[in-house]
Amino acid sequence: MSKKSMATPIQKVLLKIRPAWITRVGQELARGMEVRAGFEEQLERFFDLLGQSITTGDPAWMDPILLDWAKSSTETELEDEPYHVSFLINRMIALTIQVARETLTKQQALDLLAAVVPIYTYGLEVVARYEMETRVAHISNEMEKVQKRMERVDKSKSAFISVAAHELKTPITLIEGYASMMEDLMQQGKGADLDSLLAGMGTGIDRLRGIVDDMIDVSMIDNDLLQLNFQPMQISQMLSALYIEIEPIVQARTLAVNIKDFEGAREWIYIDAPRVTQALRNVINNAIKYTPDGGTITIDGRTLPGFIEVTIADTGIGISTEDQAMIFEKFGQLGRVDLHSSGKTKFKGGGPGLGLPIARGILEAHGGSIWVQSEGHDEIRHPGSTFHILIPARNESPDPKMARLFDTLGKNKNKEVIESDEHRSQPIDPL
Ligand code: ADP
Repeated sequence: MSKKSMATPIQKVLLKIRPAWITRVGQELARGMEVRAGFEEQLERFFDLLGQSITTGDPAWMDPILLDWAKSSTETELEDEPYHVSFLINRMIALTIQVARETLTKQQALDLLAAVVPIYTYGLEVVARYEMETRVAHISNEMEKVQKRMERVDKSKSAFISVAAHELKTPITLIEGYASMMEDLMQQGKGADLDSLLAGMGTGIDRLRGIVDDMIDVSMIDNDLLQLNFQPMQISQMLSALYIEIEPIVQARTLAVNIKDFEGAREWIYIDAPRVTQALRNVINNAIKYTPDGGTITIDGRTLPGFIEVTIADTGIGISTEDQAMIFEKFGQLGRVDLHSSGKTKFKGGGPGLGLPIARGILEAHGGSIWVQSEGHDEIRHPGSTFHILIPARNESPDPKMARLFDTLGKNKNKEVIESDEHRSQPIDPL
């Protein structure tokens, strides 16, 4: 037999191993039965293109299927197994050798390998390059996201420094001013006139303390360190106490404050009363701050399954839709350094932008929430804003030891409440 006649036409060899190759590769590489049906079709296509490449001597025939496979890797696969298709081709090479050994003569097997190895090598190169590029694009995409996050953090850090410095500077200037006036008076031997100056200095110190306390609260909320001390309390009591605090400001600013005697206001619920009062105070102070003189603030509420809802509505300047998403974030008001330090309750007197994030942190720590409704920001029309606060209506302490203690105390207290309610005519509306 001449050497030429012994040479097996490669197509014949390919046809001979085709069924065994497809079954073997299909079984080994498809992950589940469902995938296998589709995968076998894919393998048939692959095998036919392999034949085409060998016959024409042009491995580029493989490109469409290689790229199809490489592109079909999902983002998750990219994260878990970035070189999925390269791995598949590597396994195919090993399986082709196995099938060739089992199905073909030695000569046929050699011929086959001589023909397919360059095509597989080409395939590996194409896929590896594509997968590498995709991987690099994926990583740089992730890097870009991280960088953007870092930029935001950096921006908010420097904005925080500028606002904190700005906020702290005003009371410090105030204290400095009073101190130098006091020094002058002392030098002139008028020590007796120091009272009003000391009071002014006290105001400055209070403001400093308030700002520093807010900063500490925000950091406690951020780090999940806010400790709640649950005790029974009525919302009506907290609102009455707050009314006493705001009364002088409300009068000075000719604001009308209506506190309704709503359903749930006098229910005894377990909350950290000083903290919830602080949250309500922040929202009410804002209502005062962002409502022009002569406006109205209405505090109402209702019971909902498992919650008591308190609404604080004002007839103020309102809040734009974009800002509604921002204001509960720390330093949501950072862009407006111009507004800072113009007083806690003065019309539009901005603060460090910590009031609402603290309110939200306190309410969420209780299992409640806070959100705002407003038609938008309009300083002429004054559409107003309504803050909704959901407070869980717990009727026993989340702390079992406290629950036992208050169970006994609560029984007596309820008795007292019923008795005192009988004697009250206008218990909650302070106006
Ligand atoms: P600030 O210290 O700036 O008052 P807050 O966290 O208390 O910080 O409020 C964030 C921002 O939300 C305010 O600066 C203001 O722009 C807006 N805001 C809050 N309450 C109201 C309201 N009732 N009416 C209009 N704008 C409000």
